[in-house]
Amino acid sequence: MPGGEATTDGVSADARFAMSVDVEDYFQVWAFSSVIARSSWDGFSSRVGDATRRTLDLFDRTGTRATFFALGWVAEREPGLMREIAARGHELASHGYDHAKVFDQTPDEFRADIAKAKAILEDAAGERVIGYRAPGFSIDARTPWAHEILRETGHLYSSSSHPIAHDHYGDPHAPRAPHDVAGVIEAPVATARAFGRRVSAAGGGWFRAMPYAATRRLIARAAAQVDGPVIFYFHPWELDPDQPKIGHAPAKSKLRHYLNLGAMEGKLERLLGDRALLGGGRWDRIDATLNLSRRGERTAAA
Ligand SMILES: [Zn+2]
Repeated sequence: MPGGEATTDGVSADARFAMSVDVEDYFQVWAFSSVIARSSWDGFSSRVGDATRRTLDLFDRTGTRATFFALGWVAEREPGLMREIAARGHELASHGYDHAKVFDQTPDEFRADIAKAKAILEDAAGERVIGYRAPGFSIDARTPWAHEILRETGHLYSSSSHPIAHDHYGDPHAPRAPHDVAGVIEAPVATARAFGRRVSAAGGGWFRAMPYAATRRLIARAAAQVDGPVIFYFHPWELDPDQPKIGHAPAKSKLRHYLNLGAMEGKLERLLGDRALLGGGRWDRIDATLNLSRRGERTAAA
């Protein structure tokens, strides 16, 4: 990181690493949205509570703190889980109400969606919610109004940009470091410049597909190249290899969703405990790495 003292890994001693979890169930993911109607969600057996508690235990074991971007739909049904996330030292933030992509909504629909999700989350946890992550990183050139609406509804930051080339999302020319957009901090997930182009260093399917050493090199590069926190993400369902299989989904979606699920928890534990990579530090909440930490602040209703 510019200005920092480099270690042998190329990671500065003051590099910051932020862990994040997108709290949604296995049947709510974008990869299956073409075959699972929103209206059928209540017919599936929920596994997100158990998978999220497994995640919380893993974070306890490794001294990790994280930001949990939860769907309002999940928080409505699992308010106790939201309270538990906050009580165990993590930041509760918003992933919108029901995983509608931002570029599929009108500005008014977006305002209603994020205001509803924020109110449900704050009600459940009794803490102010200041962070937002768009489902499927769906804030891009099609949604120039999004950050203004985030600011109007009381969000201070967004981690909704994945600045790479990808078939579903992303803008390979968008900034890689946190930057102000309409009065809101946009904090993109981690990218590295490697092989002459930008690649993701942020997790998801990439992390499950690649050997640990390859991911580790990309994260070290991201920390050295970008002036700001390295933001990593995963989903609770990635720690749940026994989840029911969605048989009728497209082959490419299934390949991405189910790849190496059985090895995920061990691989993640290695990443969370990799003190050499972290320069002796640990993974932290996004609000803390952006100096927006509001721990202990209660909402008026609490
Ligand atoms: Zn999501």
